[in-house]
Amino acid sequence: MAPDPTPTDPRSWLTTTPRGLYCAPGGFHIDPAWPVDRAVITHGHGDHARPGHGAALATRETIEIMKVRYGADLGATQDAPYGATTRIGEVDVRLVPAGHILGSAQIVLDWRGARIVVSGDFKRRRDPTCPPFEPVPCDVFVTEATFALPVFRHPPDVEEIARLLRSVETFPERCHVVGVYALGKCQRVIALLREAGYDRRIWLHGALVPLCDLYRREGVDLGDIAPVGDAGRNPADDLFGRETFKGGIVLCPPATLVDRWSRRFPDPLPVAASGWMRVRARARQRGAELPLVISDHADWDELVATVRDVGAPALWVTHGREDALVHQARAMGVAAEALRVAGREEEGA
Ligand SMILES: [Zn+2]
Ligand SMILES: [Zn+2]
Repeated sequence: MAPDPTPTDPRSWLTTTPRGLYCAPGGFHIDPAWPVDRAVITHGHGDHARPGHGAALATRETIEIMKVRYGADLGATQDAPYGATTRIGEVDVRLVPAGHILGSAQIVLDWRGARIVVSGDFKRRRDPTCPPFEPVPCDVFVTEATFALPVFRHPPDVEEIARLLRSVETFPERCHVVGVYALGKCQRVIALLREAGYDRRIWLHGALVPLCDLYRREGVDLGDIAPVGDAGRNPADDLFGRETFKGGIVLCPPATLVDRWSRRFPDPLPVAASGWMRVRARARQRGAELPLVISDHADWDELVATVRDVGAPALWVTHGREDALVHQARAMGVAAEALRVAGREEEGA
């Protein structure tokens, strides 16, 4: 039989199911919310990478991240380097950098002459911990919309890191305790501090150590980092290490910022690093005295630029603030619609 000469309706081969996005001619789900036979995973955040699939394809870095997070509960894994094409069922699958966190990838799907790109989470600005997003021309671009409102314009992250370092200089008696998500944000904040010339030891809550170790194994330079438990082991330190932390920087998970754990440090100054820090109420809720707007997601301008760059005539908008982006894309002549995908809630925004 001759191949179908007419353009294939994208809805006929990539659909939403209760488990997530499903590619029928490939027989696989993308970032499924529940265990499936065969999954293709964009990146290691918990709302995208889940354990228990029969088989999972992702970048090697993402699979390493999943091993650290889920241990043996992984099923069969197959890694694919950026740029390589893997045939799954009838579909050619290619992973392309998404610029979001270490190992993050857009999923490029080619079937019968039509191309859909599923971006996962992405951002457009430079990040010392992962390769940059590459726009791929396609027929349908499937995008996130975490910060899809014109109010979300993220300032340059070097400026935000400079604000942190100015505060450290201004309050040498205080310990700056910075709330960061364990995967991506933590390592990026450390790498940005190093690029800004901060060469003192950076202290870590124990929950942040395994993924920092992984990033270092993957060649990301984080400089001198150590768990806070290491302080006071040195005979030169005082008994509880309090002197050690004066004027220092400690990183911890966001929830730990406001609990008893951070009160052990001398006059702790709570800092939060997140795209949500644009919103004053969110900063208050996090208990942040110094909110830093540092995001692993595209801001409004980056989302709009990306819709233009990929040049897709159709846009499907998944988790986040879909309405504003759909409206904007339609004004740009793109057939845009919201796509409800099960199981997304942002980690590490
Ligand atoms: Zn993510
Ligand atoms: Zn996400």
